[in-house]
Amino acid sequence: MQVTFIDTEIPEPGTLHEVTSGIFWLRMPLPFDLDHINLYLLEDNQNGQEGYALIDTGIGTQNTQDIWDVLLDTIGKPITKVIVTHLHPDHIGMAGYLVEKFRVPFYMSQVEYFTARALAAGPRGASTWQDDEYLTRCGLSEDYVANAQKNRKDGKGVGQVIRPIPLQFCRLQAGDSLRIGDHNWQVIIGRGHSPEHVCLFNSDTNILISGDHVLPGISPNIGVYSTEPDANSLKLYLDTLPQFTELPEDTLVLPSHKQPFYGLHTRVNELISHHHVHLDNLRVFCEQGKTIEQCLPVLFKRKLSAKNIFFAIAEAFSHLNYLYFAGECSREINPKGQFVFTLKKEA
Ligand SMILES: [Zn+2]
Repeated sequence: MQVTFIDTEIPEPGTLHEVTSGIFWLRMPLPFDLDHINLYLLEDNQNGQEGYALIDTGIGTQNTQDIWDVLLDTIGKPITKVIVTHLHPDHIGMAGYLVEKFRVPFYMSQVEYFTARALAAGPRGASTWQDDEYLTRCGLSEDYVANAQKNRKDGKGVGQVIRPIPLQFCRLQAGDSLRIGDHNWQVIIGRGHSPEHVCLFNSDTNILISGDHVLPGISPNIGVYSTEPDANSLKLYLDTLPQFTELPEDTLVLPSHKQPFYGLHTRVNELISHHHVHLDNLRVFCEQGKTIEQCLPVLFKRKLSAKNIFFAIAEAFSHLNYLYFAGECSREINPKGQFVFTLKKEA
C-alpha cells in the first residue's frame, strides 16, 4: 500500500478537525522551518466527566498559550489526561500549563520524563567543557564553538520553551494498555529519535498515534548529541522500526508533523532504506578518513542554515557512530581534536 494522505482539509492553527470518529486533529504553529506540530484530542471520560485526552501540547511560548486559551474557551469540555509522546519542546512545551490548569494525570515514559526534567533544568553550574569538546570532535570551527559558548552563557537553552514540568507523572511502558474513552490504546516504544518515545496503537480501529517516530515525507532527526557522544541512536532507531510492520497494513497513522496517512508498512520500509542509503554513501566517502562536518554533503543536498547545522551534524554523527560500533570504521582523533572516521579495509 502506497503512502497516501487522508483526503481531508488541514485544520487552521487553533481549530479542531475531526479526523475520525472521536479523534480531533489540532495544529499549533512552530517558529522553525518545520512550522507546525499536530496534536490530537481523543474523546474521554474521567470519573464520569466527559472531556478530551490530549496527545502532545505544543511549544511553550506565549503564542501557543494564547491559542490554547481561546480554544479551551470554545470547546467547552475539559482536558482529562495529558499524554506526551517524547521530550522535545514542541511536544512537552505546554504540558505543565495544561496539567496545572486542569489538575489531571500526566503520562510519559520514564526515560522521557526524567530526561525532559534534566534538560529543562540546564547545567545548574556544572562545567560545560564537554559541550565544547563535542562540537570540536564534530569538526566544527573555532568560531562556531565560541558562538555556541556565548549562546549558552546568554541562557538560550531548551528550558526557555518548556513550561515548568509537573512534579508527578504516570509511567507508560512497552505493552501497557491505556484506557481512553471506550478504547484501549497499546503502548509501543520507539528509540533513536528520542530515548523512549511513546506511540499508541488502537487495535479496535487500527489507528496508530506515531509521534515523531514514524513521519510521512520527512525523516525524523536521528542524532548523537553532547550529552552522550557514544550513543548509537541510529541502531536504536533501525531496531525499533520493524515492529510497526507487524501492525495491520491498513492502519491509519496520526503523525506529529505533516498529515495523517495510510501506508504504514511502506513508510517504515522507506525510512529504513533512507538510512541504509546514507550508510552506503558514507562507506564510500570515508574510504579516505573524514570528519563529521566533512560528511554533511553526503547526507544533505540542500544548503544548511547555521541553526540547521547543529541537527545535521548530530545526524551525521549517528550514522558514523553506527559504522564505528559495527566495526566497519575506525574513529581516531586528529591533532585538531576532531574525530576522523575511516572505513576499514577488508582483511
Ligand atoms: Zn521529536
